[in-house]
Amino acid sequence: MLTALRQIVEGVTLAPSLQEAMHTLAAQTRKAMEVDCCSIYLSEAQRRRYRLAATDGLTPEAAGKTVLPFDEGLVGLVGRREELINLADAPAHPSFKYLPEVGEEEFHSFLGVPIMHQRRVLGVLVVQQRESRQFDETDESFLVTLAAQLAGRIAHAEVKGILLNQHHWRRTLKGVAASPGLAIAKAWIWQPKLELAQINLKHSDDPELQCELLQQAVLQVQMDLDGLALRFRESVAKDSGAIFEIYQHLLTDPAYMRQIEQAIRQESWSAASAVRQVTERFIAQFEAMSDPYLRERALDLRDVAQRLLSRLAHSHHEEYEFDEPVVLMAEEVTATLLAEIPRDRLVGMVSMRGAVNSHAAILARALGIPAVMGLDLPLAELDQRLLVVDGNIGELIIEPNPSVLEEYQQLIRQAKAFDALVGGESHLPSVTRDGVRISVLLNAGLSVDSENAMLDVADGIGLYRTEIPFMLHDSFPSEQEQTTRYRAILANYPNRPVCMRTLDVGGDKPLPYLPIVEDNPFLGWRGIRLTLDHPELFLSQLKAMLRASEQQDNLSIMLPMVTSLSEVQAGRRLLDQAWLEVSEELGRRGSSIRYPSLGAMIEVPAALYILPEMAAYVDFWSVGSNDLTQYLLAVDRNNSRVADIYDAFHPAVIRALYQVANEAHQHAKPVSVCGELAGDPLGVLVLMAMGYRRFSMNLSSIPKIKYVIRRASLEELQPLLELGLKQDNSAALKSLFSGYLEQIGLASLLPSKH
Ligand code: PEP
Ligand code: MG
Repeated sequence: MLTALRQIVEGVTLAPSLQEAMHTLAAQTRKAMEVDCCSIYLSEAQRRRYRLAATDGLTPEAAGKTVLPFDEGLVGLVGRREELINLADAPAHPSFKYLPEVGEEEFHSFLGVPIMHQRRVLGVLVVQQRESRQFDETDESFLVTLAAQLAGRIAHAEVKGILLNQHHWRRTLKGVAASPGLAIAKAWIWQPKLELAQINLKHSDDPELQCELLQQAVLQVQMDLDGLALRFRESVAKDSGAIFEIYQHLLTDPAYMRQIEQAIRQESWSAASAVRQVTERFIAQFEAMSDPYLRERALDLRDVAQRLLSRLAHSHHEEYEFDEPVVLMAEEVTATLLAEIPRDRLVGMVSMRGAVNSHAAILARALGIPAVMGLDLPLAELDQRLLVVDGNIGELIIEPNPSVLEEYQQLIRQAKAFDALVGGESHLPSVTRDGVRISVLLNAGLSVDSENAMLDVADGIGLYRTEIPFMLHDSFPSEQEQTTRYRAILANYPNRPVCMRTLDVGGDKPLPYLPIVEDNPFLGWRGIRLTLDHPELFLSQLKAMLRASEQQDNLSIMLPMVTSLSEVQAGRRLLDQAWLEVSEELGRRGSSIRYPSLGAMIEVPAALYILPEMAAYVDFWSVGSNDLTQYLLAVDRNNSRVADIYDAFHPAVIRALYQVANEAHQHAKPVSVCGELAGDPLGVLVLMAMGYRRFSMNLSSIPKIKYVIRRASLEELQPLLELGLKQDNSAALKSLFSGYLEQIGLASLLPSKH
C-alpha cells in the first residue's frame, strides 16, 4: 500500500496540470483501493456548491458538469462536518441524494474525506463500492493522505486562478504581517534545489575539509527530513512519514557513504563532485534491477542526493547580483539569506514559512524591508511577476492591475513623506511632554548598516546580538577578529552605553559549522546553556569584549536565556576569570580596563520567579519580550500556523512585564526592554506607563518611537494602564492605547486597513 501511495503522490506532484493530477489520482486510487469508483468534488465557495471535477467510475460526461449544493447529499455533509464519513449502506443514510446523471444508483459503500487547506474545505474526495462493506482504518488513512496531497495542489491552482478558468492570478493573498511598509517590485525566487547534472566536477586539495563539509550536509539533510516527516505526520496519516524514513536509510547507508568518502580521500574529488559521481553509479545499479520496488529507490536516491548537494552548495555564501530591485521569495527566508542579498536591491520579502518574531522577520524590520510570511504559493511560477508586498496588513498582491498599482504608488509616496517628517526630529532627545527622559537604544548586530546609521540618533546600543557575525562565518571567528569587531562598535558610540550579549546560538540561529540536531531547538541547547558547556568559547568571547573595551568606558555584558541562578553565578565567575586574565595582560603594558556591568536577559518565564535572588548577582536586567512571549504562551515565534496566537499584548505577558518593572524598582536595578515590543508604538506606551525608561529596538523603529515618546505624557498614560491591566484580553488593552495614539494625533502609526 505504501508503494501505491507513493506512486499516487508522485503522480499528483508531477502532473503538468491540476486536471491531470486529479484524473491520475482518481484512476490510480480506484485501482489501488480496489473500489468501483473514485471521484473528486471541488468547492465553488461563492456559489455554495461542489462541482464534480474528476471521476473514475461515475459517468465520465458528468465530470465538470454535475453540481451539488453545499447543504445536500453525503458530499455536502462531509464538507459541512469537515470530517470523514464512512458508510456501508449509503442509500440508507438520510442525507443520501440520488443524482441520476452520474450513474450512482449501483453503489452502496461510501467513504468521503474533506480536502482541507488552511482550515478551508476545498473539496471532497470520495470512493464508492457496489457491494455493501465498511471501509477499514487503512482505507481511511490512505484516502486522508491523498486528500492532503491534493489539497496543496488545489490551493496552488486556486492561487493561479485556474479553478475559475481565469488567465490571471487570484490577486490578493493574505499572510502574516512580518515587517511593516509597502514595496512594489518583481519577484526573485530563491530555490536551493540543485540537480545532480548541474554539479561541475572539481578536485580538492583538502580532503579533510571536504569530508567535514559532507558530514555537516548529511546532518542538515537529516534535520530537514525529520522536519518534513514531522510536518507530514502532523497533517496526514502516520504511514506517509515512512517515505522519509526510507530517505534517512539511504542517506546513512554505509556502502553509499563509504564510497563518497573514498572518492573524496582517494581520488581527491570535492564533496559535491563525489556525491554526484557515486550517486550516479548507484542510480544506474538500481535502475538495472528487475524488482520494481528496488528500481524505484533510484528516484529516492536522486532526491536525497540533490538535497545533499543543495546543502553543500549553500554552506558557502553566495554572491548575488541584481540589475533592478527585487522582492525576495523563498520557502523559508532565513536571517542569513536575507543578510546576503545586497540591501540596495532588496525592497521586499515573502517567506512561505516563518512568523513575526523569527529572526528573519526581525532582520527585515531592522533593515526596513516590508515582509509577508506564512503563505502557500507555487513559487516557481511566480518568478519575475510583479508584486505588491503590503507588510502593514500582511497582504501580497500578484500582478496588480494599473489602478491598484497606482493606489500603492500613492501610498508609498505618503509613507515616504511621513518618514521624512519623523526623521526630521530623530536627532532630538526623547523626552515626554511631561519632561521624563527616556533612553532609546539600538538593537545592533543583525545588520552592519544599523550599527552606523543611528550614530547621531540612538542613545547607545541596548542589545548587540553577537551571534550574527558568528552565523555569517564559515568557522568560529578568532578572538582577535572578535576583538576588532567589538572595538569598532564600542568606538562608534563613545560616551554612550553599548550592551553586548554573549552568544545566543541555538533555537532558530544555528551556526553552519556547529550543527545541533534536536527535536525542540527552542527548548534545547541555546544561549547561555550552550556557552556554559563550552567555557572555552565563552571565555574567548568575554576576553574579546574586554580587550575591545580598553580605553573605552562604555561596555556592559548581558547573558541570554537565563533560567537558573547557577547560570548567572557561573557567568559571573567566568567574567571574573576573563577580566583577571585581560587585566593582567594589559597591566604588563601599563594599561587597564574597567570591570563591566553584567546583566541578565529576562526571557525565560522561570527567571520571573527568581528575580530577588538574581538581584544579588547582576547589575541590570533586560526583558527579551520576543522569547518571553514565546515561552509564556508556548507559541513558537517562528511558526506561521500559530502566528495569530503569538501576542505580546496577551494579559499574561503584560502582567509578567509589569511584575519585572515593579521588582526592578524594588531592587533598584536598571531594567530595559529589548524585544520587538519596545519598537512598537503601542508597546512602548504601555511599557512607559509601567515604569520602563529604557528601550532598545531595531534601526527602523527608532525615529518613529522617538516621535511617539515626544508626544506622549506619562501622567496621561498612567490611568490607561490601570484600566488596561484589568482587561482580560489583548484587544481591549490595545484599543485603550490605540485611542491614546489617535488622541495625540498619531493614528497613522496604527496598522492601516486600506
Ligand atoms: C528577545 O527574545 O526578545 C530578544 C531580544 O532576543 P532575540 O530576539 O535575539 O532572541
Ligand atoms: Mg531572545
